[in-house]
Amino acid sequence: MVKENLEKVHENIKKACEKAGRDPKEVTLISVSKTKPVSMLEEAYAAGSRDFGENKVQEIIDKYPQLASDIRWHMIGHLQRNKVKYIIDKTALIHSVDSLRLAQEISNQAGKRQLEMDILIEVNIAGEESKFGIPYEETVSLIEEISVLPHIHIIGLMTIAPFVTNPEDNRKYFRKIRELSVDIKQKNIDNVTMSVLSMGMTGDYMVAIEEGATMVRVGTGIFGERNYG
Ligand SMILES: *Cc1c(COP(=O)(O)O)cnc(C)c1O
Repeated sequence: MVKENLEKVHENIKKACEKAGRDPKEVTLISVSKTKPVSMLEEAYAAGSRDFGENKVQEIIDKYPQLASDIRWHMIGHLQRNKVKYIIDKTALIHSVDSLRLAQEISNQAGKRQLEMDILIEVNIAGEESKFGIPYEETVSLIEEISVLPHIHIIGLMTIAPFVTNPEDNRKYFRKIRELSVDIKQKNIDNVTMSVLSMGMTGDYMVAIEEGATMVRVGTGIFGERNYG
C-alpha cells in the first residue's frame, strides 16, 4: 500500500508541476513517518524514498540505527534546546527553528561535532496562536540575528498552513511566504540562501507546489491515518 500511495503522490507532484510550469526535480518529497513502524519506512525506502520527516527527537533516535544510512532525516517538529545534542549528527535538515536561542544551541552543538548544520526558519504564516513558528513580521530580524552564528546555515523557510478542508484556502499563505523568501533573498544576507521552501502537507501539497514549494511533507497520503492511541 505504501508503494502505491507513493506512486500516487509522485504523480500528483508531477501534475502540480506541469500546471505551474515547473520541473518536478525541483520538488523533494519528504515522507513523514512519525508514529509509523520501521517496517513501513522500509517499504517506503524500497519504493525509493530517501527523505523522511519526524517530529519527535525520540523517534529519530529510535529509527535512525534501524534504517539505511543514506536516508536524509528531517526534523520537522518543535525542537527543545536540551534535545538538540541527540539529533545534531543524525539530521540532514532542521525545519523548525523559530528562535535565536534554539539556533544558538544548534550552532554550539554543531561546532562541538565539527559539522555544519542546515536549517529552515519556521514562520507562523497565518498567525495562529496554537502554532509554533516566528511571526511573519519578525522573520527578517530573526534571520539577520541567526546569520552571524557559526556552523549553521539558513537555507530557506518552512511553514505549517492552517488545517482547512479546501486547500485553495491556503493558497494565499503559500504565496505570502514565497514572497517573503524572495524579499529575503534580495537582501543578500551573508550565509543565508533562500533555496528551500518547505510547505504543503497531505491536504494541500499540490497548491503549495503551484505556489513554489521545493519540499512537501506528506504523511497520511503515504502511510495512512495516524493512530495516536
Ligand atoms: C505530521 C506533519 C506533516 C504531515 O502531515 P499529513 O497531513 O499527515 O501529511 C507535515 N508537516 C509537519 C510539521 C507535521 O508535523
